[in-house]
Amino acid sequence: MTGPVQVLDQLSRPLRDLRVSVTDRCNFRCQYCMPREVFGPGFRFLPRSEVLTFEEVERVVRVLVPLGVSKVRLTGGEPLLRRDLPLLVRQLSSVPGIRDLALTTNGLLLGRMADHLAEAGLRRVTVSLDSLDPAVFAEMNGVGARLDVVVAGIEAAVRAGLRPVKLNCVVRRGLNDAGLLELAAFARDQGHVLRFIEYMDVGESHGWRLDEVVPSSEVLERIGERWELAPESPTYPGEVASRYRYRDGAGEVGVISSVSQPFCGACTRLRLSADGHLHTCLFSRGGTDLRPTLRSTSGDLQLSQLVQGLWRRRSDRYSEERAQGVVGGPPKVEMSYLGG
Ligand code: SAM
Ligand code: SF4
Ligand code: SF4
Repeated sequence: MTGPVQVLDQLSRPLRDLRVSVTDRCNFRCQYCMPREVFGPGFRFLPRSEVLTFEEVERVVRVLVPLGVSKVRLTGGEPLLRRDLPLLVRQLSSVPGIRDLALTTNGLLLGRMADHLAEAGLRRVTVSLDSLDPAVFAEMNGVGARLDVVVAGIEAAVRAGLRPVKLNCVVRRGLNDAGLLELAAFARDQGHVLRFIEYMDVGESHGWRLDEVVPSSEVLERIGERWELAPESPTYPGEVASRYRYRDGAGEVGVISSVSQPFCGACTRLRLSADGHLHTCLFSRGGTDLRPTLRSTSGDLQLSQLVQGLWRRRSDRYSEERAQGVVGGPPKVEMSYLGG
């Protein structure tokens, strides 16, 4: 391989993080991501032959490290549905230059997987948890999945040493916004790090409406009325969450304001879909297929040059454009496919 190469995109943003979608399948049907009406029994998920092998994922990661990638997050779809996932964790945790390996999951299978993932070298886990009301939780996950199973999964992660556990809550007006303080209290008590995420118009299948977005400013106001908050400075440039410390010492809470305060200017993320397409934005309308290169006799140098060219051409700033009212174009790729 070549030595380190600093690649900057059209807006001078470096490449730092990679999100790897290990499967486009999921055991939930969250309305805001994979609504049942679209992802029903007739939906055609990727056939196995098209999905990258662990060796192929590892090779892509190794090629990306000299280009600046030091953080990898495994996601999907639901990553814990991917068979033998701890093997991939083991492979990636031994790649030199990867300083941070994390995983985002809906938590349903975490109870039985947490130990295996930790033993394989995973250090951190993020669990999506939209409500602590069992009925709201079951409604939002679209399959009636039980809240207590996910909470037990979170406890298993803590016992396995994957702490602090991060919790992600997507706030949707009229659905789960009444339970924000309850979630904040739970995270404070248990020592979890909670992030409230603004509901986004990812993909095309959920009928997103701006009036269902609860702006982070409103979330912070409500939490601040209950517990006094103090802003924290970012831990690293380009941190997507704005963080606040509870003045009483009970940890921190964060908000991800992708709609009301877009942060494209500091976006250093690249996404790899389960079938080997690279996407340079969460709101991508098309990706670059790595498989012809990965599955040919081409070497790592060609693979690296392909990615360098892609990153150098990158000019994505969808959330900023949305804020300026200038979005439009071909259909966007679904989040469950390209990796949230
Ligand atoms: N299945 C895993 C999970 O739910 O944690 C990983 C994949 S999921 C696509 C990754 C994250 O995207 C989750 O935290 C989920 O809540 C978030 N997400 C999905 N659809 C979203 C939307 N429309 N707006 C904001 N966040 C969304
Ligand atoms: Fe599945 Fe995660 Fe999407 Fe929910 S947000 S449908 S759990 S991939
Ligand atoms: Fe990055 Fe695209 Fe999100 Fe902007 S809209 S922060 S470019 S992923």
